[in-house]
Amino acid sequence: MSLLDVENLRVTFPVDGGPDVRAVDGVDIAVEPGEIHGLVGESGSGKSVTARSVMRLLDGAVVEADRFDYRGEDLYAKSEAEMRTIRGDDIGMVFQDSMSALNPVMTVGEQIAEVVRHHGDVDESAGLLSELRRKYVTGTSETAPSWRRAVELLETVGIADPADVATTYPHQLSGGQRQRVMIAQALGGDPSLIIADEPTTALDVTVEAGILDELRRLCDEMDVSILLITHDLGVVAETCDSVTVMYSGSVMERASTEQLFQHPAHPYTKGLLRSVPEGGATDGELTTIPGSAPEPTERPDGCPFRDRCPAAFEACADPLPEHVVDAGHATRCHLYTERDDPGEVAWDADADIDAGVTAVTDDSGEPSPTEVTDG
Ligand code: SF4
Repeated sequence: MSLLDVENLRVTFPVDGGPDVRAVDGVDIAVEPGEIHGLVGESGSGKSVTARSVMRLLDGAVVEADRFDYRGEDLYAKSEAEMRTIRGDDIGMVFQDSMSALNPVMTVGEQIAEVVRHHGDVDESAGLLSELRRKYVTGTSETAPSWRRAVELLETVGIADPADVATTYPHQLSGGQRQRVMIAQALGGDPSLIIADEPTTALDVTVEAGILDELRRLCDEMDVSILLITHDLGVVAETCDSVTVMYSGSVMERASTEQLFQHPAHPYTKGLLRSVPEGGATDGELTTIPGSAPEPTERPDGCPFRDRCPAAFEACADPLPEHVVDAGHATRCHLYTERDDPGEVAWDADADIDAGVTAVTDDSGEPSPTEVTDG
């Protein structure tokens, strides 16, 4: 049984006086126990909305799904009180912007200790009056179990001098240290799943590598599963066991990380890989995907990628089929159901995308011009 099992997720934001916005359209996500699952895509692809739907943190959105199970139980059948317990106890979250996610007027130790008292395994009063007294008058005693656990968690996430750092405020720490504090905070309730939303985006590459190593180690040593949201395939390559590629609110491909990098199937995935400096490009050339993703209200019928896809053909205006490439590897593309041989994608950075004229590779492997119809 998957730890998290979501089928056919649709998330719609009602808009006053305008058409509703369907941000996520038919997404399946499965996170297995003890794995890091990457959710990758450009900004606006719906990956963060998908992640926040797991925490039920989408105010005003209409969330529908054929299945939305966490540990085999329907998350959307839970009361708000039950969800408050699940957030923190069972599912922790690490946000991209640690400066706004952390409380600037509380020490980081206090913030972690608070999570430990509410969601962790310590025998210490977490009643409202005790909390207010700690928060605004006395602070948590350094001999209290929750404070000792906070220091321990800072050490666990690789913070040097954790006892001293616990007494500092967020603005006194570097960006990398603050991200580690947020990971320690997410671990405070001993969760089974951590959702990490672009946790390294604002960091330089060396600090990023350290944080990713930390996530990998936590997953391996503490048996925590991680749903890692990223726009960076390099991060996926270094960190994830499996990956879902999203584009414009839909899933394009799901695979183990090895399958995705060794045998990418979807034209969009192939395009993304060609823009990764190492490991992706097959012929040493780096190109970007011409054009940009459509607005949610302006998606074409059928495949949302078809206005940018060099392999688009008539069938791409029809609803996307799912094709199983291999065990654990699936893609959604008409090439696999409509053609005997999907061929290679002929990427041309100068393709006349606006005019809708691109190149498709025919069964002989030779690129030939084809026209992409609008709509
Ligand atoms: Fe989409 Fe068609 Fe391109 Fe496949 S070939 S990615 S279905 S536009």
